[in-house]
Amino acid sequence: MGILQKLLGREKEEEQVVEETPAECTHSSLVPRWDDPADIGKEDKASGWTCSSCNQAFTPAEREELRAADAERVRHRQQEIEELKRQKEELEAQEREQK
Ligand SMILES: [Zn+2]
Repeated sequence: MGILQKLLGREKEEEQVVEETPAECTHSSLVPRWDDPADIGKEDKASGWTCSSCNQAFTPAEREELRAADAERVRHRQQEIEELKRQKEELEAQEREQK
């Protein structure tokens, strides 16, 4: 098994681990609620948010924090993917040189 296969195999395992640990909810599917019926449908007027996965309730301020954390997580994940791509290209270049 080459270094490249090991690297790709490890990436797969890490993804599976993430899927198998639902205990840590990322609260990515929040449902808004409104105190004033006139505001229903306006997300910026929501009085609070409830996670449809774990039913935890959040204030609008907490929801903003979650959205920021979520964006940060996505950015971090993209950086990891870029890093893996870079490593893969390096390994491919190395394997070509060895042949
Ligand atoms: Zn949740």
